[in-house]
Amino acid sequence: MHIVVLAGGIGGARFLLGVRAYAREVGAEVTAVVNVGDDLFLHGLKICPDLDSVLYTLGGSADPERGWGRVDETWTVSAELAAYGAQPTWFGLGDRDVATHLVRTTMLNAGYPLHAVTEALAGRWQPGVRLLPATDDRLETHAVVSGDGADGSGTGQRAIHFQEWWVRHRAMIDTHRFVFVGADTAKPAPGVLEALGSADAVLIAPSNPVVSIAPVLAVPGLREAVADGPAPVVGVSPIIGGAPVRGMADRCLAVLGVECSAAGVGRLYGGRGSGGLLDGWLVAEEDAGTVVPGVTVRAAPLRMTDEEATAQMVRAALELA
Ligand code: GDP
Ligand code: CA
Repeated sequence: MHIVVLAGGIGGARFLLGVRAYAREVGAEVTAVVNVGDDLFLHGLKICPDLDSVLYTLGGSADPERGWGRVDETWTVSAELAAYGAQPTWFGLGDRDVATHLVRTTMLNAGYPLHAVTEALAGRWQPGVRLLPATDDRLETHAVVSGDGADGSGTGQRAIHFQEWWVRHRAMIDTHRFVFVGADTAKPAPGVLEALGSADAVLIAPSNPVVSIAPVLAVPGLREAVADGPAPVVGVSPIIGGAPVRGMADRCLAVLGVECSAAGVGRLYGGRGSGGLLDGWLVAEEDAGTVVPGVTVRAAPLRMTDEEATAQMVRAALELA
């Protein structure tokens, strides 16, 4: 059995812990297709926040409190950069983390594509699942916000990188839409379409639908490979009882005018019969009774408190499949 998971960062990584536990139990193979829309260059380094969250979490080295970055992290490099007045200062860059970005940037500069770099990094972390970036190409999520002046004043609009929107502005800024810069010419990373073509089930992790899953699906051909592929597609709701479990998915959904609820996100993905993606939609017990036209909806406990609870979610999702 081959399970393909579409994933973002923290929600995706925690879900993959459960997928891996389930897969070990039944002897299944797992491929994770991970968002790159959050990626950015800072201080000359290529940073892939979602791929790193997945690598560190599955490698047992993620910080459990913060959810992102390395456990036992120190911040000397960041403090030194700040002492130089090097901008930007709003992005946390831990010392241990910097080593990952140095290796990645060096390999990219030497001509290796991102999927090959990711495979090399995985050699250390042994994630136990195959990790693929959605694309090797540059695809960046930008937020179009009010204020076209350099200081954010002015009556026009400007586009800022997703990380600046999320980390610096905490999503608390008048926002019109998101654009996936580079998506029109991006190609799925080698292995992605093959994985989807040979999948027995495709799971959409309880990741942010707007800025984690949508940029994955924005890679030309990828959405079609999921929607028209041979495998059943089951999504897991990141929204429980009308609120994200953590993070600011509510702010992202508001930009799209989508209700922050299990039903709202289920309808955003849509049923496969009507141009959408889903055969099944797994919602939390609190959201039992959710209706998504053309989609089989089932309720189960959806809090990823530990690996066994999460593996149980995966079991429920695959039963739906
Ligand atoms: P990011 O890229 O690091 O922001 O992470 P993701 O996009 O992969 O995941 C963020 C989403 O995970 C948020 O919308 C959360 O609501 C969701 N999430 C986090 N923990 C849980 C959980 O225990 N259960 C469920 N169902 N969703 C969760
Ligand atoms: Ca992310």
